[in-house]
Amino acid sequence: MGAAHTAIDTDVAVIGAGPAGLWAAFQLGLQELRTHVLDSLPHAGGQCAELYPDKPIYDVPAAPALAAHELTQRLLQQLAPLNVPLHLGQVVTSLQPIEGDDPQAAPRWRLGTDGGLVLTARAVVIAAGVGAFLPRTLPVPGLQAWEGRQVFHRDPPDGAWLDREVVVAGGGEAAVRLALRLAQGGAARVTLLHRTDRFAIDAALDEQLQSALGAGGVRLCLGQPIAALAADDGTLQALDIATARDERFTLPLDLLLPRLGLHPRLGPIADWGLALERKHLVVDAATLQTSRPGIHAVGDIVHYPGKRKLVVCAFHEATLAAFAIAERLRGGPVPLEYTTTSPRLLALLRGVG
Ligand SMILES: Cc1cc2nc3c(=O)[nH]c(=O)nc-3n(C[C@H](O)[C@H](O)[C@H](O)COP(=O)(O)OP(=O)(O)OC[C@H]3O[C@@H](n4cnc5c(N)ncnc54)[C@H](O)[C@@H]3O)c2cc1C
Repeated sequence: MGAAHTAIDTDVAVIGAGPAGLWAAFQLGLQELRTHVLDSLPHAGGQCAELYPDKPIYDVPAAPALAAHELTQRLLQQLAPLNVPLHLGQVVTSLQPIEGDDPQAAPRWRLGTDGGLVLTARAVVIAAGVGAFLPRTLPVPGLQAWEGRQVFHRDPPDGAWLDREVVVAGGGEAAVRLALRLAQGGAARVTLLHRTDRFAIDAALDEQLQSALGAGGVRLCLGQPIAALAADDGTLQALDIATARDERFTLPLDLLLPRLGLHPRLGPIADWGLALERKHLVVDAATLQTSRPGIHAVGDIVHYPGKRKLVVCAFHEATLAAFAIAERLRGGPVPLEYTTTSPRLLALLRGVG
């Protein structure tokens, strides 16, 4: 958890930097609304970045085959001239109306994140997809007490592993790559903790792992952690491990880095008092407004008659939402302008292409 920040005041806060959130930010930028984007992941792209970065998408208009990571890169490139700040690695945990002096005035919104960031906004766009991608945690009671000090589900502070006994838990690419990196990066000892000796990695990475295991740079520990052991001074000292044959042993450590993959959690969004239909936010299809005026939602998170969970539909929804927000905040109709011919838009987008 980070320290409390001064609140950032903006016109619109967009929750989610997947395709829907990035395109909403672009469209809001064209409306000249000050916009900030937040995402729980350390990078933009949502499902495209997290679930299928190298797979080609064949149904994005005018892009016959586009790798998912490239779609994200192009959206970021398109957004760049509009100078929209992205706050990454921040889970939005709270969304509340700010009580104003004038009960007739449209409410403003206060958003808080698990990183201590606070934003106040005149409108909110929830582009949260299937939920915030959060790291899977080890099912060891009490382990969270050391989170941020000796247990890091995300990158530990630079050099925290130097001359330390490090345990990396997991059997996928992220765990193996991290173990190899820290073994070469100054850790006193690196142990890869996994249930079995089978890893979900490609042949080239497996070759690197076998060579590090052979040379002793990385040690393999097979088993399931069942308890955390604290030293007298309260630091995390070791894990109690159970093997497949139900034998027990103790694995000493200074630093524990679980890398068990990510899973999406709708989490706090379900508690924000917005109408839901089977865990999706109910919106008006013309404005993408939720059941609370000033809060809109776009992309995979929404429900309306005929909704399809496709990138192209998310783009359409984000465009309509931006127009609806601009009309609401300006208190009147917003004319349609083309990026090809509008001097205002051309000035905003100078440098694209
Ligand atoms: C394997 C696969 C293949 C696909 N192929 C295609 C295809 O070929 N064509 C197509 O059109 N679509 C395809 N899709 C669907 C497409 O990826 C989704 O429709 C699209 O990603 C939805 O975008 P989104 O921005 O709404 O949500 P997401 O991409 O899910 O992004 C939502 C973001 O919001 C963040 N978030 C959520 N809650 C919070 C919170 N509280 N605080 C901070 N951040 C939060 C998440 O971390 C995430 O990054 C595919 C999906 C999958 C899984």
